[in-house]
Amino acid sequence: MKYDALVIGAGYAGAVTARQLAEAGNREVLLLERRDHVGGNAYDRKDDAGILIHQYGPHIFHTTEKRVYDYLSRFTNWLPYEHRVVANVHGQLMPVPFNLSSLEIAFGDRADALREKLLSVYGPERKVTILDLRKNTDPELLQLANYVYENVFVNYTMKQWGTTPEQIDPETTARVPIFLSRDDRYFQDPYQGMPANGYTPLFARMLDHPGLHVELNCDARDRLIFTPEGVKLDGEIFTGPVVYTGPVDELFDCRFGRLPYRTLDFQFETHPVDWYQTRGTVNYTVDQPYTRITEFKHMTGQELKGVTTIVKEFSRPYSGAEGEVPYYAIINPENTALYEKYRGLAQGIPNFHLVGRLAEYKYYNMDAIVSQALNLADRLLESNEKSE
Ligand code: FAD
Ligand code: UDP
Repeated sequence: MKYDALVIGAGYAGAVTARQLAEAGNREVLLLERRDHVGGNAYDRKDDAGILIHQYGPHIFHTTEKRVYDYLSRFTNWLPYEHRVVANVHGQLMPVPFNLSSLEIAFGDRADALREKLLSVYGPERKVTILDLRKNTDPELLQLANYVYENVFVNYTMKQWGTTPEQIDPETTARVPIFLSRDDRYFQDPYQGMPANGYTPLFARMLDHPGLHVELNCDARDRLIFTPEGVKLDGEIFTGPVVYTGPVDELFDCRFGRLPYRTLDFQFETHPVDWYQTRGTVNYTVDQPYTRITEFKHMTGQELKGVTTIVKEFSRPYSGAEGEVPYYAIINPENTALYEKYRGLAQGIPNFHLVGRLAEYKYYNMDAIVSQALNLADRLLESNEKSE
């Protein structure tokens, strides 16, 4: 079989690009995936108890981009779901992002005065990052900022990143701002929900196209060689577009050193009860070695009595050992500079393209990846049309 395009990785980045090229470009596309399943980190499956679980951590779809929502809606119906998270602060549960309801739970009688002050300084429905709130010089607001920092951010961030909120990329804590509202949803995006039958069936439909050929259990590094003349697939120069969605350092044998990531250990537990907790996710922001507990039935809407499955997430540095997964890029100037060296190598290869959370070394949500992949496919299709 002669292929027109080669795509590596069957997560959102690879699956969307491959589908677009196969469909719009009328091409034969080969998609290689080293795991034994498609879906990348969004992969879900039923566990032994029959509960639909997310094998690589809880995934909630949300986006502001209508194009992304409409695109995925071709492959799935949606269950309405709005993620609501509480923090467990010394046994007391309060909404996260910290909002006006959390303020009342934490500050009791003092909450009214603090709320009025917050609203007069920042305005209603505003989002303020913890790092910005801590710059406020008003003694009362600073006390509030310190409370939120101590009870919501510092321990969770130490567990997740091994360092303090000041030492990580500010965009990371900005994902969970203090919200001057009673809206207790984790995301305010206009489009949010869960794929009605799960993520894996969504991928199965996306990849179901006569021009799309998926090979599982296949590490592209065993099939590709980089030569001065170009990329070789199975020993022959491949002239079509090659789209790579894995970690870019691995591709070049980590010759400049490993790109730093955090990995996670997931501890799944099945319990003989209807419900384990009241929300989809509870963040453990002051104690416990894990960051959060997620109970899948809340998110998937699955109705099963007397049994439920939860997952606890434990974060640690990624070492590159066999079986470890690089989940979170550690974004700072030094690591970005290292990434750029690898990207430079990749850019030196004509017809080679990087897209995805790993390949771009970014903290991207699913929707951002779909958007990036749609844009890449558009560019590839457009440039090809010109060259014909
Ligand atoms: P991936 O999903 O990582 O897919 C890359 C694929 O490439 C993998 O399947 C990998 O096996 C394969 N691959 C790599 N190298 C090779 C090779 N050499 N040969 C063959 N195959 C290869 N986003 C949200 O929007 N909402 C959420 O709630 C959410 N929760 C998350 C929770 C956790 C714990 C994590 C880690 C991420 C979460 N995300 C969430 C982000 C989401 O997982 C990513 O945005 C998305 O899955 C990235 O897709 P991708 O295709 O870029 O990468
Ligand atoms: N965070 C925190 N406490 C919380 C929730 C989040 O300190 O209760 C910080 C932490 O640094 C985390 C970041 O905000 O890594 C982003 O949180 P998010 O829930 O978006 O992380 P993800 O779901 O991507 O793991």
